[in-house]
Amino acid sequence: MEESAHRRGDKKVVAVVGGGLVGALNACFFAKRGFEVEVFETREDIRKAKVVKGRSINLALSHRGRQALKHVGMEDKIVSKGIPMNARMIHSLSGKQSPIPYGKKGQVNLQNSRRFQAVFVTLTEAETYPNTTLNFDHKLQDWRAETGLMTFARPDGSKTQTQADLIVGCDGAFSAVRKQFLRRSRFNYSQTYIPHGYMELTMPPRNGEFAMKPNYLHIWPRNTFMMIALPNLDKTFTCTLFMPFEEFEKITTGDEVIEFFQKYFPDAIPLIGAAALRRDYFRLPAQAMVSVKCSPYHIGDKCVLMGDAAHAVVPFYGQGMNAGFEDCIVFDEIMNQFNEDFSVVLPEYSRVRVPDDHAIADLAMYNYVEVILFNFYFTCTFSYISFS
Ligand code: FAD
Repeated sequence: MEESAHRRGDKKVVAVVGGGLVGALNACFFAKRGFEVEVFETREDIRKAKVVKGRSINLALSHRGRQALKHVGMEDKIVSKGIPMNARMIHSLSGKQSPIPYGKKGQVNLQNSRRFQAVFVTLTEAETYPNTTLNFDHKLQDWRAETGLMTFARPDGSKTQTQADLIVGCDGAFSAVRKQFLRRSRFNYSQTYIPHGYMELTMPPRNGEFAMKPNYLHIWPRNTFMMIALPNLDKTFTCTLFMPFEEFEKITTGDEVIEFFQKYFPDAIPLIGAAALRRDYFRLPAQAMVSVKCSPYHIGDKCVLMGDAAHAVVPFYGQGMNAGFEDCIVFDEIMNQFNEDFSVVLPEYSRVRVPDDHAIADLAMYNYVEVILFNFYFTCTFSYISFS
């Protein structure tokens, strides 16, 4: 087992566990402050990977997320890789399309970007800081709250240990950092899986151009189903179908897929392509969606949770990543306020941030209940994905 020292000179070491969206952005925030930053990510470096595993969800970046990016000079770098969405476009069963703007006339509220692209850009930015090291293929297995000692598993089966002054858990909805919290007294935790799953389908370009108007979030609200489509820079659209698992499972053949689309999304069949639909529906199983709430977000002066590790939310308010980005800026402001004294900053962060993150989780769940379960058409058309 290898072991590495934690302090470098008189600089404190901050270990960011998880090099996803929130972890990579957080690394920039800590590096900007002059800490020695180590990012540990279980996956290989996705910027070098031939095949990127997992899904590249399309993300709507809203005001709160952009503010955090701006703080570390990254707003333009991310926004330039995305497509502005000025309005929603509602597709009725007859194929009629009706636009509903997000804000006032001319206001561009949301920027859509694919998750992997955003992670690419953010990791690359983090690496520009000389006091930041990115460690890929490091899967956190265990850590000690008393000492900050972490144990990582490597792909060759070996283990490595390293120590940090502060561990920042940004390792997503199924956080390994959070497991240590669960063993402690007075830690509140709940998780809820919703009955719906989601599936991504691709709408290819038509004659080299977008198959639908690009600067819109396209929505097909249907009973307890919903499909949305967001534009990508390569002129494709990613369509996401939200539907109860039991409905996904009822469809078992290509013909049934077409029949289902003919009934609910007839205008999408020629745009996605019948052959592609028959094939892609069975490519990957529908994915689950979970809502996680917990408190507090810290242990002593040693560890803090941010992003989905602290608050995974269902995606019906489009604010999961945005709230995670906002975590970074709120933490940074508290660091200013309390002179980077972790023993004060961490409890204050939990005090300030838990109620706001829980509110976002509740709003997302309310929207799920209204939009999907109760099929409240007008709520859907007016509030799917908040722009704040
Ligand atoms: P993640 O993106 O999950 O990153 C966690 C990282 O930690 C990963 O890289 C993972 O490999 C790594 N990791 C995990 N375990 C370990 C370990 N043991 N050791 C080391 N590393 C580890 N949000 C929005 O704001 N707008 C949207 O429009 C939006 N749309 C969405 C649509 C869908 C269908 C879904 C499912 C989510 C959507 N979200 C949206 C939510 C958004 O994707 C998440 O909130 C965001 O990805 C959270 O970022 P994160 O960095 O906290 O976690």
